[in-house]
Amino acid sequence: MQTLNRFPERPDPLLTIVVPCFQEEDTIPEFHQRVTKVVKRLPVSCEILYIDDGSNDGTAELLREYQDGSAVRCLFLSRNFGKEAALRAGIDHARGSALIFIDVDLQDPPELIPGMVEFWQKGYDVVNMQRNLRTGDSLFKRMSARAYYWVMQRLVDKVDLPADVSDFRLIGPAPLAAIRALDERSSILKGMIGWVGFRTFELPYNRAVRHAGSSKWNVAGLINLAIESILSFSRKPLRIFSLASFALFVSSFCYMLAALVAGSFDVHHLLVGMASFMCVGVAMVGEYLGLTLAEVKRRPQYFLKNSPKAECASIHPSVSSFEGKKC
Ligand code: UDP
Ligand code: MG
Repeated sequence: MQTLNRFPERPDPLLTIVVPCFQEEDTIPEFHQRVTKVVKRLPVSCEILYIDDGSNDGTAELLREYQDGSAVRCLFLSRNFGKEAALRAGIDHARGSALIFIDVDLQDPPELIPGMVEFWQKGYDVVNMQRNLRTGDSLFKRMSARAYYWVMQRLVDKVDLPADVSDFRLIGPAPLAAIRALDERSSILKGMIGWVGFRTFELPYNRAVRHAGSSKWNVAGLINLAIESILSFSRKPLRIFSLASFALFVSSFCYMLAALVAGSFDVHHLLVGMASFMCVGVAMVGEYLGLTLAEVKRRPQYFLKNSPKAECASIHPSVSSFEGKKC
C-alpha cells in the first residue's frame, strides 16, 4: 500500500529558526505574521521550527494550523520541560545547517534576523544578540541577570559568557556540529555555546516589551539556572573549598604545636585538629568526584576551527543546502 505523504518533499533549508513556546496563544499569531514577512526577504532558504513545550492553552492548536511540514514545522513535547529542553529539541530536529533561537513573545524582534544572517555570511560562526537596553524587562529581571553574569564570569572556567546575551543568537554549522557532538545532559545551552568557542560576534539590540501574556521566569528558576550553570562548567567551588580546608588544617596544626610547646594543650585543640583533618578528607573526595564527573561527561578536549562538515555547508544563496549535506 502506498504511504501517504502529507507534506511535499523539499530540500533541507540552510537556516532553521527555532521558536520555543509555552502558553503563548496570545503572542504566536503576531509573531508568526512578523517572522514570515522577514523569512521571505532572507537571502538563504529557511524553515521555522516551533516547539510547543507542553502548553495547555491554545498554543498547540495554533501551531498545528501553521505547520506545513516544510517551511513551518512543529514539535510537541509531552509536557512542560522548560525552555532549555525545548531549545535542545530544536537543535536535535533542525534540518538547517545553522540555526537561530528566538523567543515567541516578540521581546527579540524578528526583524533583526537578516542582520544576524549578514554577519554569518561575513564569516562569523556565532552571532550573539547583546541587549544594550533592557526596556522590556522588569527591575527584578535586570538585577538578577546582572548578578547571574557577575557570578558566572568569575566562577566558570574558560567559558566565554558575555553579559546580557541570552538565547537570541545564530549558531553556524561548525558550533552546531560541536554542540551536537556533546552527548551530555547539561541543560545550560548558553554555557555550551560559549564553551565550544568559534568565531563569535556580539550584535547589540534593544530588548522590546513582551507583546502579551507574562514571563515564566521566577526566583526559583533563576537559582536553579545559576546552580546548574556552576555545576556544569566549573570546579572552582570545589577548589575553593579544598584550599580553604587545607589552610584550616595547616593553621590548626600550628595551633596544636604552639599549645603543646606552651604546655596548654587540651582536648579542644585535638578536636579542632581532627575537624580540619576531616575537612581536607572531604575536599579530596570532592576533587576526585569532580574529576570523575569530567570523565563521565566525555567532552571532547578540542574542536577544529574548520571541520569538514562545517565547510561543506555553504551559505551562498545560490548553492542549495541539499548539495551541502551530500559531503
Ligand atoms: N518558554 C518555554 N518553556 C518554558 C518557559 C518559557 O518554551 O517553560 C518559552 C516562552 O514561550 C518564550 C521564551 O521561552 O518564547 C521566553 O520565555 P519568557 O518570556 O517567559 O522568559 P523571559 O523573556 O522573561 O526570560
Ligand atoms: Mg520574554
